[in-house]
Amino acid sequence: MTDLRAVPEPPDPRAALPQVDAVVRSLPDLVAEAGHASVTAAVRAELDHLRAALAPGGRAPDVGEVAAAAERRVRDARSGGLVAVVNATGVVLHTGLGRAPLSAAAREAIQVAAGYSSVELDLATGDRGSRTAHLGGLAASACGTEAATVVNNGAGALLLVLAALAGGREVVVSRGELVEIGGSYRLPDVMQAAGVTLVEVGTTNRTRLADHRDAAGPDTGLLLKVHRSNFAIVGFTEDTPLADLVGLGRELDVPVVHDLGSGLLVEPPAGSPLAGEPSVAASVAAGADLVVISGDKLLGGPQAGIIAGRADLVATCARHPLARALRIDALQRAALEATLAAHLRDPVPHELPTVAMLHTTTAELRSRAERLAAACGDGAEAVATTGRVGGGSLPTRELPSWAVALDGPADALSAALRQGHPPVLGRITGDRLLLDLRTVPPAGDEELVALVAAARERAGVR
Ligand SMILES: *Cc1c(COP(=O)(O)O)cnc(C)c1O
Repeated sequence: MTDLRAVPEPPDPRAALPQVDAVVRSLPDLVAEAGHASVTAAVRAELDHLRAALAPGGRAPDVGEVAAAAERRVRDARSGGLVAVVNATGVVLHTGLGRAPLSAAAREAIQVAAGYSSVELDLATGDRGSRTAHLGGLAASACGTEAATVVNNGAGALLLVLAALAGGREVVVSRGELVEIGGSYRLPDVMQAAGVTLVEVGTTNRTRLADHRDAAGPDTGLLLKVHRSNFAIVGFTEDTPLADLVGLGRELDVPVVHDLGSGLLVEPPAGSPLAGEPSVAASVAAGADLVVISGDKLLGGPQAGIIAGRADLVATCARHPLARALRIDALQRAALEATLAAHLRDPVPHELPTVAMLHTTTAELRSRAERLAAACGDGAEAVATTGRVGGGSLPTRELPSWAVALDGPADALSAALRQGHPPVLGRITGDRLLLDLRTVPPAGDEELVALVAAARERAGVR
């Protein structure tokens, strides 16, 4: 019989874990900043995690290492887990990373609005003013419409339009346009919530004007056209042009609403990376009575929903009780004003990060990629790649770009980069990790090289 005691058991590393008090005592600055209770809780949580995770024979981290991990926990908890990240995915409007990054002017405007500010005060007269009216005026100018009003987001804007203009009545929509966006937004559900009856016409791939005409009647509240945003229908297809729907709307005396989503204001010139994306200008020219757009897609601003078009219809929406419930907040409003001002100064405002990123040339991206790859040393190479616009625009369009491709286990490198300060998010293509430079501001290049070096070390590459 074997004597089991003769086989030395691997030492249990859990016994070597430091005491809670010792770790807390090593963090006097953090205790002063965040309080004893929250630091102690973070140290306990980290030690619990280690007790569960450490395998026999493993190495127990020392006081310094546990303290560093606990400090990260405290900081993450205080920021609600929200940390600034480097977007090297090549997806310009990345829903998971907050869609449109704001311009410097929009960030400054948020700082001002964060304190006491003249939100509802006319400083010239001392009377109560309406900043919402001021913002509506800016939005109308940017959209080239008679009037506009602004709410919390695009989904809210459409909900308000439906409820205010067609509540209790029917809304005719093509079956090819019943979109779902981001899982929680499904057009038929929004219509139901708005209290309108959806009348679907046509088929998934073909809808003609006659289909809309046959379905419309005395109960029709409005005709709706929806930008497909995140999918395309190709092959044997037919779509009713907006101008034809507008003609029918005039005939029936009902408004025609275009839910554009993406919020591109002006028609992109041929050769623009956005060529083919429908614009507000084209919808207005085609005669849409109202257009509905998001603030944080191609407009390049904060989360917001803009309803622009005929003054009487805009006023009806703004007066509806839902308008108050869907009100835009002061910080969004400040950022949106700054963003709209940029569009009014320049039709292609490069001061907005999304516009600048979308219009960066591949030659520029290539030279940055080559410089960065050289700075990263062996195992890094500049490669041509393709990113995306994202955010419900041009779903099938690839954006030509350049990236730094890193050799080594892509999953491990990707995880190590995600754990950096700040975290870097790249894209795995084939078996390589790519850092697409279109979505990295050039001022971030130096930092990216340092973050790559640190991540390689953590991942044990080289
Ligand atoms: C994105 C989008 C919406 C929703 O806008 P949010 O600002 O995300 O609420 C509605 N309709 C269309 C067509 C869209 O693309």
